[in-house]
Amino acid sequence: AITVGTLMTGCKILITGQEVAKQAKKKDNQILIGFSMDTLREERWQKDKAIFEQKVKELGGDVKTLSANGDDNLQLSQAEQLISQGVDVLVVNPHNSKTTAAIVNKAHKEGIPVIAYDRLIMNADVDLYVTFDNVKVGELQAKAVVDHMAKESKGNMVYLGGADTDNNAKLFREGAMKVLKAEESKGKIKIVYDQYTKDWKPEEAMKNMENALTANKNNVQGVVAANDGVAGGAIQALSAQGLVGKVPVSGQDADLAACQRIAEGKQTMTVYKPIKSIASKAAELAVALAKGEKIEVKNKVHNGKINVPSVFLEPVVVTKDNLVQTVIRDGFHRMEEVYKNVP
Ligand code: BGC
Repeated sequence: AITVGTLMTGCKILITGQEVAKQAKKKDNQILIGFSMDTLREERWQKDKAIFEQKVKELGGDVKTLSANGDDNLQLSQAEQLISQGVDVLVVNPHNSKTTAAIVNKAHKEGIPVIAYDRLIMNADVDLYVTFDNVKVGELQAKAVVDHMAKESKGNMVYLGGADTDNNAKLFREGAMKVLKAEESKGKIKIVYDQYTKDWKPEEAMKNMENALTANKNNVQGVVAANDGVAGGAIQALSAQGLVGKVPVSGQDADLAACQRIAEGKQTMTVYKPIKSIASKAAELAVALAKGEKIEVKNKVHNGKINVPSVFLEPVVVTKDNLVQTVIRDGFHRMEEVYKNVP
């Protein structure tokens, strides 16, 4: 049985504009790509935007980007705006993985193909999906926290997830729980708190962490936080109890603040997802779809309606030991920024 989010690999999937009956309407020769973004709040999305726009331009196209600031209705009306401006392809990073199906339907009515960017759009005929291996992100987070727990990886574990409106948050949790439940069944750890974080907000994560600490009388030995914003909130709550650096905390995105915390020993790890890879790949695919070229991808993922042809990129674990060989070597952050607070 195929469950939602199941990743199928090894098959070759060929799609073209014509095959999916959404051949971009070419009104003139200039390619115009629409980029509908949920938010620019987390540091990564600014990079996604800049690199995506630059790459489309390098490939001879134009881009119009609109960001919805976490508002579903605004994202829909912005997408409608892009559609009416005659974009050839719409690239969408959905705030809400379910309600965004409406955007796909509207675009398809106008013959505009849709690429889901980083986050999957559920229950819709999405043409293509470009993302990282999100289940693996969760596995890497949980594994790193378990490995860094004191007392032979034993103790109480807190899980602080992402936004439950984001399909990725479910996949991160699925990956993490695979690892954590296995440890729990060996009697090593106990999952004492498990909550999503409304809209990925650090202040919500801080409140949840405070609740987890209060409920367990500060008896917490590990925190799997789904991204660096959530980690930041958790670390603030830990700091108020004098527990920073004593309890391992994971993250994701390699935000500068998180890399600095890793350098200072306040956060255990982050998951680095090279934004250049996803933004450039999505730009290439968008321009190719706009030209009606054939696109070959190896994977597909079921979104509740169809098997969406998908591209999966590899996430990378970053700890104190490999900050230099990963984010700094890649030019994602500069050495002097990352080590700013380290004497
Ligand atoms: C992305 C993460 C990001 C989070 C919050 C997720 O869908 O994959 O990289 O931290 O959204 O914006």
